[in-house]
Amino acid sequence: MQEVIQALLSLQELDTEIFRLQRELRRLPQEHARRRAQIQASTSRRDEIKRKVMELKVRVKEIDDETNSARQRMRKVEHEASNSRSDVALLAAYQHQIRTLRKEIGTAEEEGVGLLEQVDAAQIEQDKIQAEIDSLESEFTEFSENVRKETDAAQEALDRLKQERKSRMASSIPAESLGLYDRLIQSREGIALAEIDGRVCQACFMEVPPNLSVRVARAVQLAQCPSCDRILYLRQLA
Ligand SMILES: [Zn+2]
Repeated sequence: MQEVIQALLSLQELDTEIFRLQRELRRLPQEHARRRAQIQASTSRRDEIKRKVMELKVRVKEIDDETNSARQRMRKVEHEASNSRSDVALLAAYQHQIRTLRKEIGTAEEEGVGLLEQVDAAQIEQDKIQAEIDSLESEFTEFSENVRKETDAAQEALDRLKQERKSRMASSIPAESLGLYDRLIQSREGIALAEIDGRVCQACFMEVPPNLSVRVARAVQLAQCPSCDRILYLRQLA
């Protein structure tokens, strides 16, 4: 049984590394996607502000047009008023129109100034987000390049380990023991065997019953930890 434990430990040495590489190969694209989504979110925020700036500018233009035509009308009324100085009632009516137009123009100009302030503030915000996006993009380019290199390296190492695993599998491990090991290596993410030290499982740190610890020491058959199921072994025997 010691030989089986030895062979399984030797296999686990590879499998632990295989699991680590597989986790890495899963993590890298996730991190890649997370960063891409972050840039996407900033881009959407920037586009929204851009749209708002455009809307504000359209409104500013409308107000400009409105005040220009109001000014033209005012000049026309002023001209007509100067031609009707003799008619007191008509003159008063013209002057009333002029005052009303002047007030309208004043209100519109005030609104225009307020809108321009909003445009300025939005543009500052837009520039800030753009700078953020630029720096995220350049980080992302570098990150993507690193991900590509790391992925290639991890994949290469993984292929090598799988090849090596095949050759170690050739050593005589009984099918039943290998089956148990394979189930555990999957369910325990790369650690199927656990050393037992002073009756304590070194994987889950639970104490095992004395009779089990004796069975591990005798090493007649494979013994599993009652709490984490891993195959137990004594270092001095292995
Ligand atoms: Zn355990």
